[in-house]
Amino acid sequence: MKNLLGCSIEDLEKIALSYGELSFRGKQIHNYIYNPKIRSNNIDDLQNLPSNFRNKLKSEGFIIGGLKLEKKSLSNDGTLKLLLRTLDGEFIESVGIPTNKRLTVCVSSQVGCPMDCKFCATGKDGLKRSLKAGEIIEQILLIQKEMSMKVTNIVFMGMGEPLLNLNEVLIAIKCINKDLNISQRKMTVSTVAIPNKISQLSKLSFERLGKCQFTLAISLHAPNQKIRESIIPSARNYNIKQIISDCRNYVSQTGRRISFEYILLNGINDQEEHADQLSNLIRGFQSHVNLISYNDIEEMPFQKSSFSNAHKFKSRLLQNGINVSFRKSRGLEKNAACGQLRRI
Ligand code: SF4
Repeated sequence: MKNLLGCSIEDLEKIALSYGELSFRGKQIHNYIYNPKIRSNNIDDLQNLPSNFRNKLKSEGFIIGGLKLEKKSLSNDGTLKLLLRTLDGEFIESVGIPTNKRLTVCVSSQVGCPMDCKFCATGKDGLKRSLKAGEIIEQILLIQKEMSMKVTNIVFMGMGEPLLNLNEVLIAIKCINKDLNISQRKMTVSTVAIPNKISQLSKLSFERLGKCQFTLAISLHAPNQKIRESIIPSARNYNIKQIISDCRNYVSQTGRRISFEYILLNGINDQEEHADQLSNLIRGFQSHVNLISYNDIEEMPFQKSSFSNAHKFKSRLLQNGINVSFRKSRGLEKNAACGQLRRI
């Protein structure tokens, strides 16, 4: 199967030319597959193409997406979680998070996740496979359709580790920017941090996209190596000081500040001494700490920090001159919040 979603105008023009058509047929396909007002998944609905070209596309295995909506879960706060079935029968989840002015889509980049972070439901069943760019793009189009609202922001914070699927994620970022007309500055790529991949991300982004302006969010979640290893198994392969050093290089190469994501876990990483350690670790370059309340997940041994500890932690970071804010959890009662995605 060859998915037309994820293709640029130039790709589609090449496809048209390769089947003996004029290049403007590529533009017609492009307009059709990305226009929310007219798009469908059926190549036969592309009525402005000659029927023999449509038939050739179908017989050659071209498709326009193929994710099937299996279940919708709407939270009281308006957050919508979609359970989607891929053509090979796997399940992924995507979340639409609306505010008055914005619709943010949290997309998955893999089916499952190999990283097995101890506070996250997604990693419990391991990795099935990585998603293709077209499957990432289709999640956005489906949320837009279901919520009848223009998507404004994209976060790669759903299922999977985006930097383990870097090629397809970069194709998707390019498509979101050029074909869905969403600025790179409105996108966030979130990673638990994989050795050598932060520098590769900026290098490949400059090479292939001409710029690197999306926000990089590092799931740090700990103020030192020991605590990080206890909650993120993969941390054993990537020392926290090396992560920070790689982040400093990223900031100097891209001019973009880093977001450090930090889930507050009761009694584990939420004491004032931890706030001091974190401050010392990240002091002195453009960054921002997003404090996240732990979202309860059955069978997991963690508890969210008390209100008092969370506020003391934040105050200590502020006193230490660190940019910090709390990130509000959305979609909690429908298991659509951070770390809760598990294909149910
Ligand atoms: S937190 Fe992210 S990287 Fe870790 S297991 Fe969950 S999805 Fe994977």
